[in-house]
Amino acid sequence: MKRILITGGAGFLGSHLCDKLIAEGHDILCVDNYFTGSKKNIEHLLNHPRFELMRHDVTFPLYVEVDEIYNLACPASPVHYQWDPVQTTKTSVHGAINMLGLAKRVKAKILQASTSEVYGDPEVHPQPESYWGKVNPIGPRSCYDEGKRCAETLFFDYWRQHQLKIKVVRIFNTYGPRMHPNDGRVVSNFIVQALKNQDITIYGDGSQTRSFCYMDDLLEAMVKAMNTGNDFTGPVNIGNPEEFSMLELAEIVLKLTRSKSKIIFQSLPQDDPKQRKPDISLAKRALGWEPKVRLQDGLKETISYFKTIA
Ligand code: NAD
Ligand code: UDP
Ligand code: UDP
Repeated sequence: MKRILITGGAGFLGSHLCDKLIAEGHDILCVDNYFTGSKKNIEHLLNHPRFELMRHDVTFPLYVEVDEIYNLACPASPVHYQWDPVQTTKTSVHGAINMLGLAKRVKAKILQASTSEVYGDPEVHPQPESYWGKVNPIGPRSCYDEGKRCAETLFFDYWRQHQLKIKVVRIFNTYGPRMHPNDGRVVSNFIVQALKNQDITIYGDGSQTRSFCYMDDLLEAMVKAMNTGNDFTGPVNIGNPEEFSMLELAEIVLKLTRSKSKIIFQSLPQDDPKQRKPDISLAKRALGWEPKVRLQDGLKETISYFKTIA
């Protein structure tokens, strides 16, 4: 049994990670400031003897005793991370410094939930970890992209300078139950719109692509990354390489929900990446992992969840 700190543990991915690690027999400390997460996501764990919840903002120091840290605290959807961009950068950068300082003091292993956004609007397709990315440093997405890039820098400097045990995973678009209904991300938006028979809002002409990973697959890879030997730091891409255009995604959601919604086209947000697909050769090799859940199957689970909260 390990004592594991999960920052951002009341969010979409963090709450599922709490469930998974509790089920594996560990002692979980969930830390969250509820900016985009919710107590509802972890309500079912509140009376569990191996679960502890703490309201805390990771931009402030945190003194606790743990063996492992999963650093997930950070709003992930463009709507939320652009709402208070200064706080977003602080969360990534000050949050990383504090969690790395904590890991250094207690000699804990620490994993960073990084992102495919470090590749920006990529000129290399699919994206391998060796690609340095094409990121606008002063645009509306920069608070998130550059914050996450700086967090990676800090992780690797603590590794070089203080020999910390680090794991950096670059997560590609992931979806599933417990996504926030007003989160603004494409999968939740399309499903919520389809279930209400409202217009499906495609930004741009819908030809931009993304590769969507179901959360169960993602969490399996994340835990496998944490459990690698000390010589493995990443960064490692985790995501599902099956690529879809937003128009294709809209059509699949319409079919699965048997919705009467119409597709409408709205303007494309600034700096919206045109394409994204992970090269997962390293994850296959180093983690012995590849995603199993097909988009249609993961969407069915997600649609069922949104029906229950409608
Ligand atoms: P989410 O918004 O549901 O979860 C983020 C959690 O962090 C929320 O519970 C939020 O309240 C909390 N948080 C935000 N700022 C905080 C702060 N300063 N202190 C403490 N808690 C704070 O998003 P998610 O999809 O679950 O994302 C989890 C992590 O994975 C994020 O770091 C995100 O950048 C990363 N990620 C997610 C995706 C994806 O597609 N879901 C893709 C790439 C990276
Ligand atoms: N820190 C923390 N918890 C700890 C240890 C450190 O939150 O258990 C924070 C502390 O605020 C510090 C930061 O992590 O500023 C970086 O710590 P480090 O030891 O690397 O640097 P220093 O203390 O010299 O600033
Ligand atoms: N998108 C869309 N309609 C929506 C929400 C998003 O067409 O209602 C598009 C968005 O412009 C982007 C893609 O879907 O091209 C994925 O957006 P999301 O915010 O989910 O993730 P990210 O852009 O961070 O990959």
